[in-house]
Order: sequence, then structure tokens, then C-alpha cells
Amino acid sequence: MSLPLPVIPLPREEPGSFSFTEAEIEAEALRLQEAIQQHQRWPLETCRGIAPITLEINRLKKENDVFLIAHTYQTPDIIYGVADEVADSYTLSKAARDAPQQTILFSSVRFMAETAKIVSPHKTVIHPSPEAGCSLSDGITAQDVRDLRAQYPGVPVACYINTTAAVKAECDVSVTSSNYLRICERLPGDKLIFVPDRFMGAHLQKALQGKKEVIVFDGECEVHAVFTGEKVRQWRQRIGENLSVLAHPECSADVLEEADFVGSSEKLIHEAIRLGTVGQPDVMLITECGTAERVMAEAEEELNLYGACVMCRHMKATQLEDILQALQAPRVDQVIEIDSEIIARAQHNLDEMFRLAE
Ligand code: SF4
Repeated sequence: MSLPLPVIPLPREEPGSFSFTEAEIEAEALRLQEAIQQHQRWPLETCRGIAPITLEINRLKKENDVFLIAHTYQTPDIIYGVADEVADSYTLSKAARDAPQQTILFSSVRFMAETAKIVSPHKTVIHPSPEAGCSLSDGITAQDVRDLRAQYPGVPVACYINTTAAVKAECDVSVTSSNYLRICERLPGDKLIFVPDRFMGAHLQKALQGKKEVIVFDGECEVHAVFTGEKVRQWRQRIGENLSVLAHPECSADVLEEADFVGSSEKLIHEAIRLGTVGQPDVMLITECGTAERVMAEAEEELNLYGACVMCRHMKATQLEDILQALQAPRVDQVIEIDSEIIARAQHNLDEMFRLAE
């Protein structure tokens, strides 16, 4: 498969010495290489280097009964080395809620760890990289939502799940990239406010045209905003009509108009793998690089992945060493704490999402 992917993060510091035998390290290195399925970018030597860390993380998880959740955009060493559950926002919020373990380590950006805390407030939620934000969730405040409510009294407010707990507390329901169309269509009335993603909001405006007026906030994902319809058209000219273009709904309308398939990262992965099984191997994935890495690891048929993915600096802020440190001795800023009144209001918002999405 051909796709320019970001470089593999280098270990930050020596992981320290653990009491694993050479045979255990070798077996773990082989397991990692087999799971990651990118022998050039993740050769056995690299896997040997990280094997003691993944072994130690997995040992600590077991010893302390920790459930480790990772978003699809995390790096393959985290996804295939130490995660117990890997998926997109919607599936992960349910996994956090339903996990029997009382401690969750969330390898992702901050708002996702906050979401895990909202759906299971009695659990301890550890977030290894407190600095890992998101241009969408950082681009809107609770006051912005209160201002919109004052401007449009009585109009329901739907927020993308990429928002802080404080913003969720001000909104009526959260949506994710896998359910925003279904949920927004089911909201009462002929008008709704959608925050904070203007691209997803524009997609909603188009989908609900004639049924509902959609008032849209002005935020955007700095990763998906990079793609343009012009680039897609150029690739189509180069590769031909057999190229299947798969795009995430955080992309602009210009890109989505060119796409053959629009869906959440999980749906994009399934569709790319499905195309391989029906003899349509030419695929362009318009989203964050982690999606392509999962396709490469999980597709059994050979695929030709075209174009360039874009890396999210927030999602890639977490490394195995951060997870190890947070498991060994979490700092105060790595344990998610949210005001109980905000949790109660945000919980109602997420309960509405689960109810309307099913
Ligand atoms: S990819 Fe975009 S939406 Fe996702 S965490 Fe990064 S900045 Fe936020």
C-alpha cells in the first residue's frame, strides 16, 4: 500500500529496566510486528525496543484491573500493543460506561477522557496527556452556548461530542460522526442549533433542507480542514474512475461533494476493508492518518491507498511512555475531575444521545 504516513514517534526516554526475559521480549516483539502489519515502518528491531514497555503496561493493567481505551487516531504501538478497546467516539463512550473495571485509562484527547468520566462518574479516569486538546473542543465555551440560547430562545442545541464537559452541560444532546444525522433529524421543532463544527453543520443543513433550519457555530477541526475538493479531483484524474473516495464528515462541503462515502472513522475503516474484498482496491481515505494505519493492519486484501493523510498533533501527543508513567503513578492533572453539577447536566445530554441514537 502506498501512503505518506507520519514518522514513528521516538521513545522520550529510557523506559527503565523491567524483569522480562529475552524470550518474553522476543515473543512480544513478534506479536507487535504481526499485529501492526507494517514491516517497513515498524521493523522487528523497533518492536523489540518497545516490547518491554508494552509488556510492563499490560502487566500493570492486569495487576490494577485497568481498562485501557484508545481512539483510532492513536499510534499503532498503543492500538495493537496495549489497548483493550479501539474505536471511534461513540463506541468508546459506551465502552467506558459498560466496562466492569473501576479504573479507565483513556489514550486520546482530553474531551474524550472527560466524556468517559461523565458516563461513569464513580470510576477513576486517567488521561496520560492533559495537554492533548482539540481545535473543535477548544474553540467553543459554555458562555458561547448560553449566548446562542439567548439569541434563539427555545431552540434545541445539539453539540458534537468533541466538546468539553462544561459545553455539554449547556446543550440538549451530543452527537457523534456516526449518528449526527439521525439524532438531529429526531429533535423536536423545525429549527436547531448545532455546535461547534461548521463543516458538519453545513452537511446537516444540506441533509435537513426543507425539514429544519440549522443554525451553525463557526468551529472546525484543524486536521480535516486541510483537505480540499480540488485535491480530490486531481487524484481522480490521476487514478481514474475506479478510485473510491472515503471522507470523514468533519471535512468541508467541497470535499464531501466529491466523496463516494461519508462516515465516522470506524465506518471508513469497514468500508475500505469491504472495498478490498469486492475487488475495488483503489481507495482514498480523507481523514486523520490513524484510520489508514488501522486499514493497513486489518485489511486482508491488498489495497492501494492514495493521497496523503493528515496527522492530528493532539491525538499523537500520547506515547507509550506517558501511559506507563500514568499507570505507575498518575499525577493530579492526569486524573479527570469534573464538578458534580456539570457532570449531572452533561450526563443528561449523553443519555439523550444514547436514547436517540438507538
Ligand atoms: S482530528 Fe480534529 S477533531 Fe479530532 S482531535 Fe484532532 S483536532 Fe480534534
